Amino acid sequence: MLLEIDNLTLLYGRIQALHGISLTVAEGEIVALIGANGAGKTTTMRAISGLRPVAAGSIRFDGTDVTKMRADLRVIRGIGQSPEGRGVFPGMTVHENLEMGAYTRRDKAGIAEDLEMVYGLFPRLLERRKQPGGTLSGGEQQMLAVGRAMMTRPRLLLLDEPSMGLAPKLIQQIFEIITRINEQGTTILLVEQNAQQALSRAHRGYVLETGRIVKEGSGQELLTDPAVKEAYLGVA
Ligand code: ATP
Repeated sequence: MLLEIDNLTLLYGRIQALHGISLTVAEGEIVALIGANGAGKTTTMRAISGLRPVAAGSIRFDGTDVTKMRADLRVIRGIGQSPEGRGVFPGMTVHENLEMGAYTRRDKAGIAEDLEMVYGLFPRLLERRKQPGGTLSGGEQQMLAVGRAMMTRPRLLLLDEPSMGLAPKLIQQIFEIITRINEQGTTILLVEQNAQQALSRAHRGYVLETGRIVKEGSGQELLTDPAVKEAYLGVA
């Protein structure tokens, strides 16, 4: 397993956001984590990337226990994140934002290669490479955040709500790009409100409810599960 989370508990002060969740992501997979607002999806991502300390449980990445490792060291190990709410640097150009993604790297040739790869995935970013990040549309900023995470050359890419706030056409496009990134060899853990799209793209998925995993299965199993359909896919 590339990622193994075992019995993870996380607290915000006295609020318990995660109640002992366990999940795995195998190399090469797209795994979707779905759930309602406040279920703990973003919190799970923060725990994996090291932005929040955990109270109990463990996180193993590629066989190493990273539960207490600093966030920047996890990036170097290969955990890349595109955070919810985008976090693009508004005053830097698109190109500079992408270069920032590679700040932990020293392999110039590899960085140049990956810039080309990101511009290939997102031609729109290439067109706007000299434009300040803050002047991009919401959808373009979302692409830039994903592109910047790709610049860390992650083995595991954590995507938090990549479709949030996008027009339907762009939602389709961003999911197609996610599939392409995966086909090119990057393992993906995807948090999404858009359960329909996420599950149809994912190999496997987990359903999170109030800090607990209540269901897991293949993307197809979850898509056709009556309870999942009713709660998350808007069909009774
Ligand atoms: P959303 O889709 O709305 O972002 P989510 O599934 O990502 O939801 P989380 O953001 O992980 O949910 O939140 C899980 C729980 O932890 C919620 O009850 C939330 O109110 C609480 N929470 C999140 N961040 C904090 C914080 N910084 N301080 C206190 N409580 C928090």
